[in-house]
Amino acid sequence: MTRIIAVANQKGGVGKTTTTVNLAASLVAMKRKVLVIDLDPQGNATTGSGIDKRARKRTVYHVLLGETDIADVRVHSETGGFDLVPANRELAGAEVELVDLPEREMRLKDALAEALRQMRAAIDAIAGDYDFIFLDCPPSLSLLTLNGLCAADSVLIPMQCEYYALEGLSDLVQTIKKVRAHLNPTLEIEGLLRTMYDPRNTLALNVAAELERHFGERLYRTVIPRNVRLAEAPSHGVPALTLEAKSKGALAYLALAGEVVRRMEARDRAHAAVAPEPAATEQPSAPVPHDGLPASGAPEQSTAALEPFRDQPEQSP
Ligand code: ATP
Ligand code: MG
Repeated sequence: MTRIIAVANQKGGVGKTTTTVNLAASLVAMKRKVLVIDLDPQGNATTGSGIDKRARKRTVYHVLLGETDIADVRVHSETGGFDLVPANRELAGAEVELVDLPEREMRLKDALAEALRQMRAAIDAIAGDYDFIFLDCPPSLSLLTLNGLCAADSVLIPMQCEYYALEGLSDLVQTIKKVRAHLNPTLEIEGLLRTMYDPRNTLALNVAAELERHFGERLYRTVIPRNVRLAEAPSHGVPALTLEAKSKGALAYLALAGEVVRRMEARDRAHAAVAPEPAATEQPSAPVPHDGLPASGAPEQSTAALEPFRDQPEQSP
């Protein structure tokens, strides 16, 4: 089954694009079929995959406007081995224009609904071609990020282990809760990823421990170290795996790909285990977990992964 994963964090420069491109390339190395959709007007995932974003006449922007299909826009990244739906600065106009379409008086809600419909229809049409689809979101909680969160099965959150990261994370978790409540009830947290990690930094260790406490299993065991090859690779338009397969950065993303696949397989097994027998009794079956966590019919449990981020009562001194 295709897994659609939004890579999101409204904080800038935390490694969203590096994760998208390198995880995609690592999954390709594991013989998975992967599509990357660049949802950021910066077009970093496009450039980092060796595609000239300025030369692209049709991009994700035209897909969002419903003017073209993904199949007509996608290109193959020779350096990454995956397909890519490119983005460039034109997409920056989408925030405004989506609100304006198709009539000026159209309200944000309707515009969002229309954009989501276009995006979902476009993804549905090609989903069967891929094992994984990644949406590289921009550094904001904007309409584009909302689009990504609504079109996805789950969200992968890369983050640096620094003090403000936890604050930003709580904003993102609130947004995810709102998206679940109103727009995409089955949205899951795919996982939290520690990026640019330096174990010699005491603060990083403390923040990592805090993340572990709050998110438990949702925190990937794999950590991505700060690594110069990961930083250099985009300037060559290649993933680190192509630049230097044995670099620490490339190996870390290969390990992450292994973890992502193992989790997906465990989820599929859990799904199969609770699937009702064809000739089962007439008793209503339990809701099928979408991702190891109950997705519907059990709202209390379905937000279990986010539970620690519920507003805590004031503590007495
Ligand atoms: P934006 O919010 O602008 O989209 P982002 O979250 O996508 O940024 P990246 O562009 O992936 O973040 O990374 C920010 C910068 O940090 C880039 O220059 C990238 O090359 C570098 N970088 C990312 N991960 C690592 C790493 N593990 N080691 C060294 N440099 C890294
Ligand atoms: Mg980015």
